[in-house]
Order: sequence, then structure tokens, then C-alpha cells
Amino acid sequence: MFSGFKGGIHPPENKHVAEDKAFTNLPVPQMCYIPLSQHLGAPAKPVVEVGQTVTEGQLIAEAGGFVSANVHSPVPGKVVEIKEINTVNNRQMAVVIEAEGAFSSSAQPRQTDDWEKLAPEEILRRIREAGIVGLGGAAFPAAVKLSPPKDKKIDILIVNGSECEPYLTVDDMLMQTFPKEIIDGTRMLMKVLGVTRAIIGIENNKKKAVQALKKTLASMSIKEDIAVKALRTKYPQGAEKQLIYSLTGKQVPSGGLPMEVGVVVQNVGTIFAAREAVVFSKPLFERYITVSGKMINKPGNYKVRLGTRISDIVEECGGLKGEPAKIVIGGPMCGLSIHSLDIPVVKGTSGILFLSKDEVKTGDFSQCIRCGRCVAACPINLVPCDLGNAVEKNRYDLVEELRPLDCIMCGSCSYSCPSNRPLSHFIKLAQAWVRKQKK
Ligand code: SF4
Ligand code: SF4
Repeated sequence: MFSGFKGGIHPPENKHVAEDKAFTNLPVPQMCYIPLSQHLGAPAKPVVEVGQTVTEGQLIAEAGGFVSANVHSPVPGKVVEIKEINTVNNRQMAVVIEAEGAFSSSAQPRQTDDWEKLAPEEILRRIREAGIVGLGGAAFPAAVKLSPPKDKKIDILIVNGSECEPYLTVDDMLMQTFPKEIIDGTRMLMKVLGVTRAIIGIENNKKKAVQALKKTLASMSIKEDIAVKALRTKYPQGAEKQLIYSLTGKQVPSGGLPMEVGVVVQNVGTIFAAREAVVFSKPLFERYITVSGKMINKPGNYKVRLGTRISDIVEECGGLKGEPAKIVIGGPMCGLSIHSLDIPVVKGTSGILFLSKDEVKTGDFSQCIRCGRCVAACPINLVPCDLGNAVEKNRYDLVEELRPLDCIMCGSCSYSCPSNRPLSHFIKLAQAWVRKQKK
């Protein structure tokens, strides 16, 4: 077993709430709210008009630049509005589609293509066309990540199955349910990158997933060198730089990308979706998510159409037990809290948590007592207390040398602080200040 990176924390895992719950398909919503910016990069540009009829999976907005992604209709129906809506990150334009008519693709037997006969360029083209983005939460367009500059030689693909965020179990269930597809998808991306080696990294609290992948791998006769490695369960094991270090010992330089050390990282959910795009010509119009927390009646792992509002999901999951103290999109460490249920599920939504009072850290923060716990927890070797103190005192002149831009926003420092100091929030302010100075 690999021991891994410096720092990190061990928050309560709380995986038991949804763990081992097999995937359930949630019903298709009557109205879908599909934002044009569900990815990092430029928003997609709509190619449909109000009143137009669309089919399931039809392109409704095309990538607005190299770092951008196509957006497809999750349902057959009619475009009823193109308007600004609230999303988890911001207010932005969205195509609103009312479901009607026949489900042209999901109701039909699926046509399959043998990806092994396809050229790498064709595989990449299909991934780009299908609007595949990183489904671990970052939503970076997958085709861009799979197209490193010519001078960056990639020699290893890392498959991120660590799922280190508490509560989330969707990747665990994907690996248990679809091990063959994930290995197949891994081989497919290896072909695109021209690499012969891949490592699937999984935290050792997902024993069934590790076993499923190892057993499937042993039963396949393949030429590629693919290894499944169990990693120590420690947050943030799934952060790219930490995962690369844990699996290979390579250190991505400050401000650098994984490709600088010859690595590309893709999440297991992204690999699964990419394979579906290539083999079944299926655009990314639905995804698997975890719904969890003490305040939801039926926690579990669900397949859901993109554009489904959280309010529809709550209804389908048996409603709430009472008023949640906090609703979080994503995991509790890196996720964002929301204050309205009118927000749609998008490509980057890995989970929705309905948390009770006793699951949430509350209360005012107090002075730093220089205990050093935040420094010990930081996986990037930053000094979060000094960054927090500088921001609190408006001493922005001190922040740049404390390297706030290296912060990966994992929240380990805030979690560790006995004074309840909102350190990652302070660091976000420091980052904004430094970025503004650089413009
Ligand atoms: S400073 Fe940033 S990287 Fe370090 S623990 Fe805090 S949030 Fe994580
Ligand atoms: S953990 Fe909190 S109290 Fe301790 S040094 Fe860091 S900021 Fe200060």
C-alpha cells in the first residue's frame, strides 16, 4: 500500500448513509433547466431557438472556444425559454426544455461501436462532440486534458477512483457496478494519449471497488499495463497533485499542471462517460450522483438527467425530514452550499447533501491561538494561519509571498482549526487580490 502525501485530515467518512445503495434511475423531469456554462472555460453558444422541438441528446449549445464544451438536450421536448437562472456558482443563461415526445435514444437498443478499431483522433473527436467534462467536480473539458501540447510527453494515465470527500459514494458504486466498462474506458483513453501504463488509485475504504476492478482486470487478456492500487484513506487523497504523488512519487511543481511530470488524471466517472460517448455515440446528458445526509428520506446513488432541479430530486427521494441546516452541492469539504432548491443538476454535480445541525460545523470564529494544526494539515505546505491573519487585518501586501495561488481549496485547514477560523475563505480572498494585481 502507498502511504502518500504530507498533511491531510481524517474527517468522519459518513459513507454509510448511501454506501452500497445500488443505482436507481430517477424519473425524467417535466422541465429541464440546462445552463450554458457547465464546464470550465467559455460558455457554450445556443444553437436552438424558443419554440423549437428537440430530440433527446440533440446539440443545443456548441462549445464557445477551445476550453469549452458542447451541451445537449437531456430530454425530447420543446425549448420554452432561454433565460438567466441561478446555478450553484452564479447566475447564467440556460435553455429551458419542456419534456414531450419519444425518447429516441434511451428507449432504443443501443448501437455499439468497437472503439479498438477507431483511430485515437476519432475517439478524441467523439469525446469532444459529446461534451464530456471532468465529472469529479472540476468540469474541465476532457478532450482538452487529453490533448496536451506536443512538447509535453505523457507516459502515464492516472484514473482517480479515490473519492476522498465524506458522504460521496457515486464513484465507489460506479467501480463496483461497471468495472469492465471502466477498464475498457481506461484502455481507450490510453490509446488517445499514446501511453502504455495506467494506475487506478482507490482509497482503501472502498474494498469492494478495489476487488471488483482487480478481479475484472485479472479476467481480461489485454496488452496494456494497468494496475489497481489501494491508497490510504486520507483527505484530500483525490486532489490531483496529491494523488499523483501518492501513486508515482512525482511532484507537480508549484503553479504547474500534471502534464509537467508526464501525467494525465481522469476521474472514473469521466472515463465511464467518455466510453459511453465513443461506444454508444451518447452525449453527456445524464450522470450518476450521490444524494445523502441525515435530512433526506431516501439517500442513495441515482442516475439523473442534467437540468433536473434539486426540488424534483428531493421529491423523488422521499422528501426532507425537516429543514436542513445546510444543503451542499458536491462533498462537504470542497462543495458549495446553496440556499434554494431551484438549482439544476449540472455536469459537475457529484452529490447533493442535506445536512442536519449535528452534521455541520457552526458558531463564530475567534482569534488564532498559533496552535499550528492548520499548517500540519495543509497538503501543499502553506501557512494558512498567516494567510488568514493577513487577510483579516487587511494586510494584503503580505499575502503574495505566502503563495495563496498554490492553495487547492481542500478546506483541511479550516476543518482542523480549533478557533473555527474560516481559513479557506480568507485564502480565497487572498487569491482574488493576487490575481487582480497580476492583471
Ligand atoms: S491552505 Fe489551501 S491547500 Fe492548504 S489546507 Fe487550506 S485549503 Fe487546503
Ligand atoms: S489552526 Fe487555527 S488557531 Fe491553530 S494556528 Fe491555524 S489558524 Fe491559528
